[in-house]
Amino acid sequence: MARALIDGFGRRITYVRLSVTDRCNFRCRYCMGEEMHFLPKAQLLSFGEIETIVDLLIDRGVTKLRLTGGEPLVRRGILDLVQRLGKRLGHGLEELTLTTNGSQLVGAAQGLAASGIRRVNVSVDSLDPAKFAQITRRGRLGQVLGGIAAAKAAGLRVKINMVALRGINEDEIVPMLRWCGAQSFDLTLIETMPLGEVSEERIEHYLPLDCVKCDLAQQFTLVPSLARTGGPARYFDVAELGVRLGLITPISNNFCAGCNRIRVTATGTVYGCLGHEQKVELRDLLRADDRSAAETALDALIAGKPQRHRFDIASATPAVERHMSVTGG
Ligand code: SAM
Repeated sequence: MARALIDGFGRRITYVRLSVTDRCNFRCRYCMGEEMHFLPKAQLLSFGEIETIVDLLIDRGVTKLRLTGGEPLVRRGILDLVQRLGKRLGHGLEELTLTTNGSQLVGAAQGLAASGIRRVNVSVDSLDPAKFAQITRRGRLGQVLGGIAAAKAAGLRVKINMVALRGINEDEIVPMLRWCGAQSFDLTLIETMPLGEVSEERIEHYLPLDCVKCDLAQQFTLVPSLARTGGPARYFDVAELGVRLGLITPISNNFCAGCNRIRVTATGTVYGCLGHEQKVELRDLLRADDRSAAETALDALIAGKPQRHRFDIASATPAVERHMSVTGG
């Protein structure tokens, strides 16, 4: 292996989130505006270019790759890409995973499993069809639940991601936890983050998860778990339900000291941090077949990786202009 990717704070980068498209068929209110402008498809990395970046990163010690977006499963030919990337499993790559809104899983689940994907994260913010439609603006809960069932039937382990939103779905956290228990899914709750303009003030719906945890602890036995999935969540085993509960607390409890991640956008921009502008552009270097310049750019990114994000959920302006769907969630 070539030199490992170790940043100025001694953090080793082993985990990459790679966005395959900024497009999404949903418009979740905390994530996007109603009207979004997406990139022309010609600007997206080709599958071959994605493979080249992935190989470069594996060569530098990345062992875990999560495909995301936008909605990764709306990219045309995505199962072909997953199959191609799956061939790296056992050859430097230890895990290939995917985060999805679940809407396309009915058609994709078998193919994902056949390519070596073992776990998927599916975002479900509500189990109430009307509220689900309200939050996502365009989503149909039944379609997503059908997709989740298909994933389960294909042998994929499912983790549900739920952005906890005050006044919107806070009353659904316990029902969601119980549903996950009944389905043998894990559940991760996420605090809303100030990324890109949306039509609402994020502070209005910000729900600190330390409060949620205290409330849950009144009803359930939460046993701190040492489990790690390589991501930012802290885990608790909910003894009564057999569910592993993850809490992602970018606002209330900063976890940047343990950050092991970088993010690659669908156009080959690599960001050192979700909440900063610091980046390098790899696409043109790859198109010029300049591997050494790409390595130098990557080294510069890692050397300058910010120590931590500075999210201020109360600020009227987001921490960065780009939405999570651009950086890759
Ligand atoms: N389309 C896929 C999905 O729905 O999971 C993958 C991309 S989405 C950007 C990844 C995750 O980011 C989802 O769980 C979504 O709820 C979350 N997300 C998006 N914007 C967010 C924000 N501003 N704050 C917190 N989580 C956000």
